[in-house]
Amino acid sequence: MNRVRLLVLNAALGPLDYRLPEGMSAPAGSVVVAPLGPRKVTGIVWDKGRLPGEAIAFERLRPILEVVPVPPLPAPLRRLIEWTADYYCAPLASVARMALASGGALGGPATMTEYRLSGGTPERMTAQRRAAIAALEGEQGTMRELAGLAGVSQGVLRGLVHQGVIEPVRVNIDRPYDRADPDFAPPDLSPGQAAVAGRLVAAVQARAFAPFLLDGVTGSGKTETYFEPVAEAVRSGKQVLVLLPEIALTENFLARFAARFGAAPVLWHSSLRSTARRRAWRAIADGSAQVVVGARSALFLPYADLGLIVVDEAHEVSFKQDDGVRYNARDVAVMRARFESVPVILASATPALESLHMAAQGVYEKLDLPARFGGASLPSVRLVNLTQEKPGSGRWLARPLIDALRDRLDKGEQALLFLNRRGYAPLTLCRNCGHRFKCPSCSAWLVEHRLSARLACHHCGFETRVPEACPECGESDCLVACGPGVERIADEVRELFPAARIALATSDTLNTPERAAEFIAMAQGKAIDIIIGTQLVTKGFHFPDLTLVGVVDADLGLEGGDLRAGERTFSQIAQVAGRAGRGAKPGEVLIQTRHPDAPVIAALASGDRDGFYAAETAARRDAGAPPFGRWAAIILSSEDEKEAREAATRLGDVRPRLADVQILGPAPAPLALLRGRYRYRFLVNARRSANLQAMLRDWIGGVQFAPGVRVGIDIDPYSFV
Ligand code: ADP
Ligand code: ZN
Repeated sequence: MNRVRLLVLNAALGPLDYRLPEGMSAPAGSVVVAPLGPRKVTGIVWDKGRLPGEAIAFERLRPILEVVPVPPLPAPLRRLIEWTADYYCAPLASVARMALASGGALGGPATMTEYRLSGGTPERMTAQRRAAIAALEGEQGTMRELAGLAGVSQGVLRGLVHQGVIEPVRVNIDRPYDRADPDFAPPDLSPGQAAVAGRLVAAVQARAFAPFLLDGVTGSGKTETYFEPVAEAVRSGKQVLVLLPEIALTENFLARFAARFGAAPVLWHSSLRSTARRRAWRAIADGSAQVVVGARSALFLPYADLGLIVVDEAHEVSFKQDDGVRYNARDVAVMRARFESVPVILASATPALESLHMAAQGVYEKLDLPARFGGASLPSVRLVNLTQEKPGSGRWLARPLIDALRDRLDKGEQALLFLNRRGYAPLTLCRNCGHRFKCPSCSAWLVEHRLSARLACHHCGFETRVPEACPECGESDCLVACGPGVERIADEVRELFPAARIALATSDTLNTPERAAEFIAMAQGKAIDIIIGTQLVTKGFHFPDLTLVGVVDADLGLEGGDLRAGERTFSQIAQVAGRAGRGAKPGEVLIQTRHPDAPVIAALASGDRDGFYAAETAARRDAGAPPFGRWAAIILSSEDEKEAREAATRLGDVRPRLADVQILGPAPAPLALLRGRYRYRFLVNARRSANLQAMLRDWIGGVQFAPGVRVGIDIDPYSFV
């Protein structure tokens, strides 16, 4: 019988049954369009018997309208979608959407019109036109994209098309990518690197699930080493997925990849243009994309023939997605490798405690690169006790750090100052009346950004101009900035060393791949003396003449709602420290702290990573925290405070009483108001013996909430605000 059950791409709908018309073929995984009332919906034909649903009489089934001409989603991906939805308590449709990430890939013609400058000049040159033309130099894209790039309306550009200044071009959207050559420029590996690479290459050849933890100190050449199994997979015609935590890292990676393989990999991230996205999606689905480098969303794409997955900087918290489907790309990558029966490599200099635990249990095979490449030594670390070495008032750099900066400037070497706080100051208040600037829709202070002369909320994106006068008491010139952000540190450095060339490296300044590339080129070309940056500079970068790293406030990460604060602080500081002394000259790290005796700070000072992990592991075991027990966070929110509170109380009243599950809450979340929604939370701590997801589904599924209430379930949460 030609009955099919669809996973419809609409989380509000369950699976729906349809009839396959005579002569239409749609095996499991096919993407189809089906009627729904007067509308059409997109769905995926699912494997028989795997989606529960109501069996409607065959005669009443409506027919599938069309099968979209793309390859069916492969079975391993369908299993991954099921697993992800089940494990993270997310709707199947929401997970499936991530696989079909590119609506444009699904249909339509394969060519399109793009526009570019023709080289001509307009009859009448206006300032606006001149600026638009300058902005479009070397660019090509749709009207909409170019208008965005040039910061003008499409009308302005159409005027220029009319005058022949901008010309249309037909492009083949699906044109093939350059081929990567696995033997283009293989490096000479050190014996240690070669041993690790050999093991990984053998795993690729074995074509079976094999999880590896590649644990190599900063500068040990992890990338060069894992490029060998990548080359092996490419050689045998298999596809490779390399996940990177941050798009700012990709430029650096792309350059190294091109040097090794003679061609660029296929890029995937959320800010790809629609055509680039379609081209990549199609090449991934038809198997012609050899190596895909992407952010976490690349994980759910329909690879035709995967041979290897690499998760670089696998400890990074940005692999955790905190909205929509709340998944951890590192963990899902391991599951995908398992469903695909391929090896997966988690590479890091500071692996997550969970990953080290899996290695200790023998589940992951651990491969070590204990030394820096080329004989470079690891940097020496010194603590600066801020309770003794007090910076002046309104100043944040203590004497030893200032002296060290001066020393590098004298020697013509580079320095990096790390403070994980964007903007100028985290809090602004009125000296006259004490008014504090708060976000109107979040329980958070507004952060002053002096470069853009704005006060911004880092939680919801709200922005307002810095006012002349206090909105509360009307007094002018009375606003005081409290605490430091990177912009303020930059001011301080500028005052201390007026001749130094300073660069800010944050997600505000390096917000496009182009800007990131420009920054890297300047730093490598020694056009920058002092880099001041947020967590963005903690990883990936390799500047041989950078010999000093200063951590402005090591205690910062220990505050706040991070469930893994100690571990996070350790890895962040160890990573940023790892930027120092990567070339011939030795590096030095100065860590400013008010708590030199805190275990994590002491471990950083003595370089005792194993000791730190051992202590942290023991603490987690005692607390029943991951990986020994399991956590889940539940956040109930509503625009109405009372509604949110009542929902939380109601859920709390019917909490299950189980021996192996402890439920804390409800309590107002630390961010009690976020984007205009009031939030209450529960923290669930379960032993490994408990079936956490089933328990959550039973518990939460049994309660009817008011329509304005949203329920968010976060399995294995990282942040707890
Ligand atoms: P990690 O990722 O482990 O911090 P990288 O992969 O960035 O280290 O390597 C550090 C530096 O050493 C890079 O500039 C890299 O190109 C260089 N390098 C590492 N291994 C080799 C090798 N075998 N041959 C040449 N250069 C290497
Ligand atoms: Zn806000």
